[in-house]
Amino acid sequence: MSETNNTNNNDRDIHTHALVGERLCLDFANTVSWHDSEDSREWLTSYERLVGWCQHADILTEQQALSLLQQAEDHPAEANRVLKKTVEFREAIHDIFSSIPKNETPNKADLATLNGMLVDTYRSIQIVPDDDNNFSLQFQKPEDSLDGILAPIVQSAIDILVSEKELKRVKKCEGDPCGWLFLDTSRNRSRRWCSMADCGNRAKARRFYQNKK
Ligand SMILES: [Zn+2]
Repeated sequence: MSETNNTNNNDRDIHTHALVGERLCLDFANTVSWHDSEDSREWLTSYERLVGWCQHADILTEQQALSLLQQAEDHPAEANRVLKKTVEFREAIHDIFSSIPKNETPNKADLATLNGMLVDTYRSIQIVPDDDNNFSLQFQKPEDSLDGILAPIVQSAIDILVSEKELKRVKKCEGDPCGWLFLDTSRNRSRRWCSMADCGNRAKARRFYQNKK
């Protein structure tokens, strides 16, 4: 796990951060820019920014976000603890899903982190019947605790890991050292970049320059 640089991204609006992963847990993994470089940029630099990102990623409504921000203001030490736990979890998710396109077994410590989160998440989950007596899983309300926002991310990671079909489509952007992850949902599985406008164009420009030489 790399130490992330806390400078530069603080001023950038978290509500504009690109969501290109196609799955929640991959977008979550992409909350560091240039993850695989020495010069990585952390986006989750405060609990407020974490809540902002969760709202941006549709985990929270505005009202739920406001409720959590109020609770964080009342319990700053706990909010900081949750932020630290979240960043550790994010690093584990990034490392686990980075190992998949390389066909490598994920690191044991990263899996232990995910399994720890799984226990926390499933402690608060309930199975409930609906009016037609069908059953579904119900998470606690995300605003009920400062770390309630993590449950849907854990669930998203599990959904990919146990789905052979989805697992095969996990890719890492070829724009070295971008480090962003995504699920390739293109029909012919030809997606190579986090975004064509970003890493895709950079690679094209590099190829053009090399050809000219
Ligand atoms: Zn990229």
